[in-house]
Amino acid sequence: MSVKYVAEPFRIKMVEPIKMTTPEERLEKIKEADYNLFSLASEDVYIDLLTDSGTGAMSQEQWSAMFIGDEAYAGGRSYRKLLKAGEDVFGYEYIQPVHQGRAAEKILMPLLLEEGKFAISNMHFDTTRAHVILAGGRAIDNIVPEGKKPEVRSKFKGNMDVAKLEALIAEKGVENIGMIIQTVTNNSAGGQPVSMQNMRDLYAVGQKHGIVVCIDAARHAENAFFIKRDEAEFKDWAIKDIVKEMFSYGDVITMSCKKDFNVNMGGILAVKDAVANDALIQSIKASCINYEGFYTYGGLSGRDLEAMAVGIYQYMDEDYLAYRIGQMEYLAGRLDEAGIAYQAPVGGHGVYVDAKALFPHIPYTEFPGQVLAVELYKEAGIRTCDIGSYMIGNDPDTNEQIESEFEFTRLAIPRQVYTQAHFDVMADALIAIKERAHTIKRGYKINWEPPILRHFQSKLEPIE
Ligand SMILES: *Cc1c(COP(=O)(O)O)cnc(C)c1O
Repeated sequence: MSVKYVAEPFRIKMVEPIKMTTPEERLEKIKEADYNLFSLASEDVYIDLLTDSGTGAMSQEQWSAMFIGDEAYAGGRSYRKLLKAGEDVFGYEYIQPVHQGRAAEKILMPLLLEEGKFAISNMHFDTTRAHVILAGGRAIDNIVPEGKKPEVRSKFKGNMDVAKLEALIAEKGVENIGMIIQTVTNNSAGGQPVSMQNMRDLYAVGQKHGIVVCIDAARHAENAFFIKRDEAEFKDWAIKDIVKEMFSYGDVITMSCKKDFNVNMGGILAVKDAVANDALIQSIKASCINYEGFYTYGGLSGRDLEAMAVGIYQYMDEDYLAYRIGQMEYLAGRLDEAGIAYQAPVGGHGVYVDAKALFPHIPYTEFPGQVLAVELYKEAGIRTCDIGSYMIGNDPDTNEQIESEFEFTRLAIPRQVYTQAHFDVMADALIAIKERAHTIKRGYKINWEPPILRHFQSKLEPIE
């Protein structure tokens, strides 16, 4: 085998046993779950790659910080520690803690969007799209063309198409654009990174037209690692300095801290210029008090804020990031050897297998990404999810199934949780499924679905 695994820059001092299941048991369990992986009990899963969100193993520094959490209702010490860290790392003057990323979206979107306004993003994450729509807005995805082609190996495939952004603003009218959202890394496009140059260019467009630029920053540290590796100007920069520079090209941040802060729960909503945005900050605080909790804890415990204030620094470590991205490269390398297509080159937090390439005979209306997700569970007890037409859902205006740009099955990798042997189980399972892919003739139909974010709860059935 030619691919090399980057050894862990840590050792393990607590373990969580996992149950092994038989193929027969798994067939039964997935049927009981209506072929929706979100409905499985986690004990029935061997390797859980549903998400890298909040599923990581925290460090001893984070666990020990939790003991000094200040649980005061107002004005807590842990809150001020997080504010200070946020200002230091991001350069943003106002940091609002919230319980997770979508809470930041729930507070921010109605303040910037109203009926008929557009949000333009390099690609909306599913909850981001949902909150744009819930606020009455419409979400436009505007990624560079190569980002839509899993087989094209180029750098920074997560970038916004900035030329097209200008055209979209002209077409829709600047007064109808509520916000521009730069997602780093671009989760829905495969955790693909965004270049500093793209962040600069995009921010210049926002400034020129007076449109708010929001950085959806769940994986800012992983993105910074790619900038250092692949953007010549930054090769000698420290990750922390790259992160600071990245955030200078935005006005507000929404962030799920369950990703690159490696905490089990937490999010932030941040505003760069507190003086110019005094009214916005007052509205954020008011909305936070209504929905999340008093603004100095935002729905979190003081101990959670402590873990965040440690994680914000710890996971910018370069050895850690090299190991983290190295895991993705190891799995991707094994898939290359087996001729299995994925969004390439591999991104920051998972491997997005091209289910359309594996099942070319299954149409988007039968959800190839979901087909592969179910097969991975049946094959090896691996839980993944569809990032494709099944996830994207129906057009809010016509109620028709939208055809996604991609049909991916996402193997999202929790931080500091799985070993090289687990990665081999993942690769072997995919190889076994590839060998029998032609025998899987049809996909799934949905028997019941909620109106929004349906993939979490739908009930499916195989088409015979
Ligand atoms: C996870 C994520 C969110 C939503 O955050 P939650 O913590 O899951 O609510 C928003 N945007 C991106 C890019 C994400 O990855």
